[in-house]
Amino acid sequence: MARKHILVIEDNPETQQMLAEVVLAPKGYLPIAALDGEEGLRLAEEKHPDLIILDMRLPGMSGLNVLKALRERGLDIPVIFTTVRESVELVVQAFRLGARDYIIKPFDPLEMQEAIERVLGASTLREDRDQLTRRQVEASERFQRQLQELNIIYTIGRSVTSLLDLNQVLNRVVEAAVFLADAEEGLLLLLDEDGDELYLRAEKNVDEKVARTLRVRVDDTIAGQVIQSDQPVLISGETSKIVTGYLTKALLYVPLRSPNRGVIGVLGVVNREVPRPFSKRDSHLLSALADYAAIAIENARLFEAVEAERVKWERVLQETKGPIILVDEKNRVLLCNAAAREALSLSDGDLLDKPIDKALSHAILRDMFAEAHRSNRVVLAEVPLEDGRTFNAQLTPIAGVGLVLVMQDITHLKELDRIKSEFVTAISHDLRTPLTTIQGYVELLPRAGPLNEQQQAFIERVRRSMTVILRLINTLLDVDRLETGLDLEMTPCNLIEIIEESIQGMLPLTERKHQELQSHLPASDVLVRGNPTRLRQVMDNLLSNAVKYTPEGGRITVSAEEDDGHIVVHVADTGIGISPAQQPYIFDKFYRVESSDTIGIVGSGLGLAIVKTVIDKHGGRIWVESNPGRGSVFTFVLPTIKGA
Ligand code: ADP
Repeated sequence: MARKHILVIEDNPETQQMLAEVVLAPKGYLPIAALDGEEGLRLAEEKHPDLIILDMRLPGMSGLNVLKALRERGLDIPVIFTTVRESVELVVQAFRLGARDYIIKPFDPLEMQEAIERVLGASTLREDRDQLTRRQVEASERFQRQLQELNIIYTIGRSVTSLLDLNQVLNRVVEAAVFLADAEEGLLLLLDEDGDELYLRAEKNVDEKVARTLRVRVDDTIAGQVIQSDQPVLISGETSKIVTGYLTKALLYVPLRSPNRGVIGVLGVVNREVPRPFSKRDSHLLSALADYAAIAIENARLFEAVEAERVKWERVLQETKGPIILVDEKNRVLLCNAAAREALSLSDGDLLDKPIDKALSHAILRDMFAEAHRSNRVVLAEVPLEDGRTFNAQLTPIAGVGLVLVMQDITHLKELDRIKSEFVTAISHDLRTPLTTIQGYVELLPRAGPLNEQQQAFIERVRRSMTVILRLINTLLDVDRLETGLDLEMTPCNLIEIIEESIQGMLPLTERKHQELQSHLPASDVLVRGNPTRLRQVMDNLLSNAVKYTPEGGRITVSAEEDDGHIVVHVADTGIGISPAQQPYIFDKFYRVESSDTIGIVGSGLGLAIVKTVIDKHGGRIWVESNPGRGSVFTFVLPTIKGA
């Protein structure tokens, strides 16, 4: 048998070479190469090859135009075309122009060889037509046709799952329906929201005027009948005219079934001029296409619903009055609402996707992000802004998302706090002088003359109460001095020594309550820059609280360890604990937990406020972890003096 000539019209030399060497030569075909459409046409006319492999995207004359020209010149050479873009429109047009098959680039050599054999086999059948029975020729043509149909349905299936927009997919479906059913017109109707009427969603060749106003009722139309019965309707001949009320020679409508919502529309083809009826087979093909259309519509609907939800939440966050910043797990900005941009003087542009430490210049906030990222814990801080406002910032890790920063403006609360402190300080000052006078006279009373036993007992009670009041007043004035930064000369001091002295001072109290007091401290000195008296006050307060809020027989443990420029100190007890709801407030001034466990325990609610202020002034941090009924651990961290 003579070797077959195959003309390859392909502008890419590498693909040319690959086709010649890997696909054609091993099968004994003789390749002829053309690098553009014009040359291809010329060679087709000159050499009459047995088959053409035609690239659809060519410089100058396009693949489609080459196909057209081949037809016009009466060259009946079978063509396999190659394309990168899988478009139904292109496939349908190429098939209309007589192409036999197509291959998507990049392709597998074997796939191409099979296609060549198939197409050449079918055309041999055609050539030998005379020797074949009519049935054999018909079978071969039917086979070709089925191949085309499968190819088209396959292409539609692929476009539904790719990210094409819905309009494009639906237009392709209608276009394919028209081609497969060999129809004049095609249309896709969808039910409206009320389910009473169908409107036109996509069409092919429908008269423009009709298309513009097309709406049909579900009640008494053929499309409605398809919806209601969920069955295809196939009409031809004279009946079609009677049933449709307008002039059609043949009509086929199939239902569009959504996976979740039942029948949602109709896919139809119509022959208005040519009296060519549609077949059961057309109905099957259209049903397959309708399934794809329904899936595409459902996907688009779900996508829209999710998108609408996302937009809604984004708007809520954007328009919330408090500043909000959301970053992903790599600390890149996902959202920064208008309030955050205003408060932190961030420009509008290009915050999205930027690393947060590049977007933010505020040192406290940057530290918060670094810390939350490292520890994966909630980080809280007060953030004073340059414009004088103060915000309370909370940075929370959200699993699978990243971190969310929420800020509340607490400027007015800070102001109230300042006024309250001033007021308390003023009152304390004013009370101290008359109280000292009262105390003096009470001391003098016994010297003024003999007192009976009852009078002496009364005076003793007055004296004790005076001491409590004076201690409270002194503490209040102490808080004020601390806050205004007085009494805070800093020197290098050995924190371990301070802790040990505080423990020693606490022993009489723990012994009285039969509590065990343990310590695990570094053997060598740890130097911090600080005020020894204030640091001692911190330890005394934490330890006396541990003693106060731990029942008899409990255990108190003090431990400390050095860690990369810091010292971390824990004061742990096995006491009554603090509920999570109360933990955020215990460092506030005058805050005391009121519960059945704390009845009879005296205190002012100022101890931890002093502790926190001292630690803050030393550039450290303090926090509590506690389980009600099991105990608490207070931990503070202070920077150490490097190289100590
Ligand atoms: P107080 O003078 O009331 O002890 P503090 O400011 O020292 O004031 O403490 C505030 C509150 O925190 C206390 O009233 C108590 O309810 C709670 N608290 C402090 N330390 C502990 C602890 N070790 N165990 C349980 N609760 C504690």
